[in-house]
Amino acid sequence: MKIILLGAPGAGKGTVAKLLTDYDGSVQISTGDILRAAVRAGSDLGKEAKGFMDRGDLVPDNLIMKIMESRLQEPDCRKGFILDGFPRTIPQAEELKNLLSKLGIKLDMVVNLDVPREIILDRLTTRRTCSNPDCQEIYNIKTKPASPDGKCLKCGSSVVQRDDETEEAITYRLETYNKKTAPLAFYYEKESLLKNFLSISSTDTVEAVKKALNR
Ligand code: AMP
Repeated sequence: MKIILLGAPGAGKGTVAKLLTDYDGSVQISTGDILRAAVRAGSDLGKEAKGFMDRGDLVPDNLIMKIMESRLQEPDCRKGFILDGFPRTIPQAEELKNLLSKLGIKLDMVVNLDVPREIILDRLTTRRTCSNPDCQEIYNIKTKPASPDGKCLKCGSSVVQRDDETEEAITYRLETYNKKTAPLAFYYEKESLLKNFLSISSTDTVEAVKKALNR
């Protein structure tokens, strides 16, 4: 499959993307994951991106397009890809359109995950992440707690709150989403690619997406 996943931070794009990769082997491409890896590695890209990310701001379009232009040409994308967290702005969507047409790639669908705001806020403020870069297991203080002393159940490293998952950063990220990313739904509706999914349970959503793809 060749799809874009749209949805606010905390809508479950990462979880849905992972389940879809299990379905047909398409690769998940998360610009957030790529950027976090660059920050950890201390690369030039990471140094440029960190300040924007910590504030909950978007990283400039030119940096993102540089990443995606090379990523989409890697051999593992031939079978299919699930874009998770990209595009985030209308200019990114326009540039992606040009890039895909240059590469001769046609999108199957744009999946818009629609999740009530209370659920999103609750998910994001209760989420915790293993601090070990090679593990990064996700926890939730209510539904999937780490060990009583805050250690990862898989690798024993400390489980922490991401810098961009404090209440202040989350509020800002949601505002940024409404201003800059939500308009992409209209953009892809006009392109006749948009499909909306009310998404409370990720597994139900994945089943609905599979059905829509096979239609
Ligand atoms: P995510 O994990 O997708 O929520 O991304 C985490 C952070 O990385 C975002 O808050 C942005 O600062 C940055 N980011 C990820 N993807 C993009 C993108 N396509 N455009 C701009 N910034 C991005």
